[in-house]
Amino acid sequence: MSDTLDLAQELIRRRSVTPEDAGCQQLIAERLAPLGFEAHHLRFEDVDNLWLRRGSEGPVLAFAGHTDVVPTGPVEKWSSDPFQPQIRNGQLYGRGAADMKSSIAAFVTACEAFLKDHPDHKGSIAMLITSDEEGPSVNGTVKVVEWLEARGEKITWALVGEPSSTERLGDVIKNGRRGSLSGVLRVRGQQGHVAYPHLADNPVHRALPALAELAAIEWDEGNEHFPPTSFQISNIHAGTGAENVIPGELEVMFNLRFSTEQTDEGIRTRVHAVLDAHGLDYELSWRLSGHPFLTAEGELVEAASAAIREVMGLDTELSTAGGTSDGRFIAPTGAQVVELGPLNASIHKIDEHVRVEDLDALSRIYTGILKRLLAD
Ligand SMILES: [Zn+2]
Repeated sequence: MSDTLDLAQELIRRRSVTPEDAGCQQLIAERLAPLGFEAHHLRFEDVDNLWLRRGSEGPVLAFAGHTDVVPTGPVEKWSSDPFQPQIRNGQLYGRGAADMKSSIAAFVTACEAFLKDHPDHKGSIAMLITSDEEGPSVNGTVKVVEWLEARGEKITWALVGEPSSTERLGDVIKNGRRGSLSGVLRVRGQQGHVAYPHLADNPVHRALPALAELAAIEWDEGNEHFPPTSFQISNIHAGTGAENVIPGELEVMFNLRFSTEQTDEGIRTRVHAVLDAHGLDYELSWRLSGHPFLTAEGELVEAASAAIREVMGLDTELSTAGGTSDGRFIAPTGAQVVELGPLNASIHKIDEHVRVEDLDALSRIYTGILKRLLAD
């Protein structure tokens, strides 16, 4: 019998397809209330969020995660109902099994185990749970962080339960993420007949040298923690479909994943300088989805590495690879942020699953981190 497994199954049964929470947060809050966690249910627009805290002193160790899951895709392709958890061959199947209801269950059981031995711990234990991580991420963690800032509440260490592991539980933890900056560029020309180019102005011809220059820029070499910054054109479109018409406009979408060697301001300035140098008539709109952040080795990384070594007998690897996560909203407040969760091989897929024995191990790792940071 495993408390973590039981709770993970209860959470999977709740159909919390983003941005629905489907009662998951209520379940967590009720379970932790008798242990002294004070709950704030924060609803922003259509998104349920939960802030739980036990204690009023610092430092604050906050477990962070999400109860929402991505849609199932075609249900008939699943070997079992995605919202009826099933155990087969030592694996727990269900939507959210790996991303990230098992981690949420392990948060709860880790707190229960820790409080049994350390009811008078130092500082505070908190939980920041949203139901808007898989969606637009507008009314989730970012709003809770603003709410906390307004109240003067600070997170010292944020332990995000995203599935960070690749082959064995705990083999990789994420101690940072690259920044992500997107641009939509519209280069204007003058539409016309291909037989009369002197009466037209071809925006494709005008833009190509500038795009080639942008694509060839070596932004940086990365650093100890980050791979080099990369600029990628993701979409390019011009033309009416006819072979005899010079297009009037060219649209290009691009994205940069950038290291801590760059700032989004610096990148914007340089891109504009290239476009201006080529004399283009253009419009460019930007969207910054996250600044890069890095939690250098410190108490949180050390506590996580030591707890993983104790439970799993392996040395964890620090990584900043992969997509963005809600850690990007917490890091700017000055908190140390580490992502540590189960294997990510099946996330967002048909037949998402997690190893049953990893559930208790993950809970023990989280308990080990609590002990190292907050034991009295
Ligand atoms: Zn996730």
